[in-house]
Amino acid sequence: MAERGAHLTGTAVLKPTIFEIVAQESLASTLEPAFKRVFSFLVTCNPERYGWLAQWSDEAYAIFHGMLQRFYLKNYGASFAETFYGLQRIATANSKPAGKISKGQQNLSLIFLLLDPYLKAKASQFELDEIDGRPSKEKWKRLLKTYFVKGHRIYNLVREVSGMYYYLSYISDRSAYPNPLLHLLSMSLTYSHPHELISISELLSKWKEGNFTTSDGIHLLQRGFTRSLELGTFFLQFINWWNQENFYNNLMSLPVPPPPPVPDIARRYKGLCPVCIKSPSIPTALSVSGYVFCYQCILQTIQTNGKCPVTHYPAKEDDLIRLYN
Ligand SMILES: [Zn+2]
Repeated sequence: MAERGAHLTGTAVLKPTIFEIVAQESLASTLEPAFKRVFSFLVTCNPERYGWLAQWSDEAYAIFHGMLQRFYLKNYGASFAETFYGLQRIATANSKPAGKISKGQQNLSLIFLLLDPYLKAKASQFELDEIDGRPSKEKWKRLLKTYFVKGHRIYNLVREVSGMYYYLSYISDRSAYPNPLLHLLSMSLTYSHPHELISISELLSKWKEGNFTTSDGIHLLQRGFTRSLELGTFFLQFINWWNQENFYNNLMSLPVPPPPPVPDIARRYKGLCPVCIKSPSIPTALSVSGYVFCYQCILQTIQTNGKCPVTHYPAKEDDLIRLYN
């Protein structure tokens, strides 16, 4: 453990790039919709059994999220998304790295990691209730919700503006903190060292020798769980990307429809002007129907009838196109 901490105490701690910071933040924000999708799938599968869950999905997510983040903070000193991108939190003193984060910082990290999405979910739920015309019956509850929504809007604005300021300062090396919250908790991010993992073969040989303990079993289970969660998240990111790619591709490359079939009458007039039944002189196409006539024949017809002599579609002089073949 000492050698793992050693690299954190020097002044030359590598700062993760802004891309990694933004990527982990966006990954963190996909976790909740993914969880809720699974949740709503359960509810639609068996509404009688799981219907009550729909009402408590924010709380259920908060519990799941809490356990997940607690596990990662305790084991890797980073949130789930940070671990996924190979980052970890370090304590800072006067903007200089000062070793691993303390127990108190771990707990504060956990509280902020949980509170932020929970408050956001609640604010949007209260807002939806108001729009859908489902306000609370009691006046004090209604007032409280309105103030909560307004307060959250202000908080969001402050957070976004200060977040932008911190991003810019971080990029230009004027700040060691990628976001205001980490600054508040005197923490920053750095690259984590690869976690010490016991390989499967080591575990198997332990099993063979009869040294396999319960803690090894728990370790194996934990690893299986976190690995599948990470894989699941990666898969989710992939699906999101795929959907977006396909969305744009579909718009850009609409399928080419087959050409309309050639009607019998068109076959009959092949190479002939349908008006005088001779080879067209000054071949001129009528754009509303596609037939080719002599310029004189079709001009006269349109001037007198105002429609195509074959299909009877309405036509004007402007619909004539001289062909230069
Ligand atoms: Zn003609």
